[in-house]
Amino acid sequence: MGWKEELSSLIQNRNTRSKLRFDEPLGKHNYFGIGGNAAAYFEVSTTDELAQVAQLKKRWEVPVALIGRGSNLLVSDAGYSGIVVRLIGEFNRLEFDQNRVDVGAGVSLPRLSKIAANRGLSGVEFALGIPGSVGGALIMNAGAWGSSFGDLVERVQVMTEEGEPIDLNHDDAQFSYRHSGLKPYFCVTEATLTLTPGDAEEVDALMQDLYNQKITSQPFAEENAGCMFKNPPGHSAGKLIDECGLKGHRVGGAEVSKIHGNFILNLDNATAQDVLSLVRHIQNRVKRERGVDLEMEVQLLGF
Ligand SMILES: Cc1cc2nc3c(=O)[nH]c(=O)nc-3n(C[C@H](O)[C@H](O)[C@H](O)COP(=O)(O)OP(=O)(O)OC[C@H]3O[C@@H](n4cnc5c(N)ncnc54)[C@H](O)[C@@H]3O)c2cc1C
Repeated sequence: MGWKEELSSLIQNRNTRSKLRFDEPLGKHNYFGIGGNAAAYFEVSTTDELAQVAQLKKRWEVPVALIGRGSNLLVSDAGYSGIVVRLIGEFNRLEFDQNRVDVGAGVSLPRLSKIAANRGLSGVEFALGIPGSVGGALIMNAGAWGSSFGDLVERVQVMTEEGEPIDLNHDDAQFSYRHSGLKPYFCVTEATLTLTPGDAEEVDALMQDLYNQKITSQPFAEENAGCMFKNPPGHSAGKLIDECGLKGHRVGGAEVSKIHGNFILNLDNATAQDVLSLVRHIQNRVKRERGVDLEMEVQLLGF
């Protein structure tokens, strides 16, 4: 038996909501709409199955990559030769206890924002316009308007490479600008957030206001993965790109947004190679003309 057969046996003849597919096009599972196939694509619905994937990874030395909503990902044209895992089912848990919420890594940020606002809980208003999952937001320490997801985190549960769940506190998670120390773990599974009690109408109004500001200043219609680069200390990446005259610059089917310089759009069947060539071109121009290094914020898979 090979790893594919063993993976199939995890869900065969079981009453599970998990879904397994082989040779799955990854373009369907990320916001760029780019990327080749994954050897296996597994939507995992229970902690027990997730632990078994961790063990299978070890036993067969097969690569495993966790993805959330794929809103911060560039997937290689060659795809991924291992198992791509996405969390569903049990990992969509959302449980409030006054101003604290236990939230599964599979929960979408817009859903979390809306439910918190309904309850008059402030803190995640900034996240309505961020199309990621809680897992992705924890890994990336997603944020906007001066707020970051990590600021709200009291506890993060991760799974180790051995398939053991462990709890980390806020400091253990090592949040910094668009970065956390959670990447080395096998998977992020859930978190406890502390929100601030407020007035439901006011929370909702702020959430809608931030959302409206976002959709009028950033491209939402075309496929993209959010900000391509981190803001270098003391600079705005978008402004630097704009000042170098790169808005609208195109490589193959990929184009720098004319609305916001820090967004690369898949305008016309762009390949991952088109996007990466455009990234390198931008990095070289900004370095040459402004002396600043731009570091990619978007994460690479399968390169
Ligand atoms: C239109 C648009 C607007 C955006 N605006 C913002 C913004 O304002 N601010 C901002 O910070 N970001 C923004 N983003 C980027 C993105 O939405 C965030 O980074 C988000 O948190 C990524 O979550 P995800 O679930 O899509 O993660 P993915 O893109 O699927 O993955 C991102 C990284 O996290 C890892 N990962 C995901 N889930 C897990 C898990 N459970 N365990 C371990 N690793 C995991 C992946 O391996 C990958 O390395 C935007 C994106 C788009 C498309």
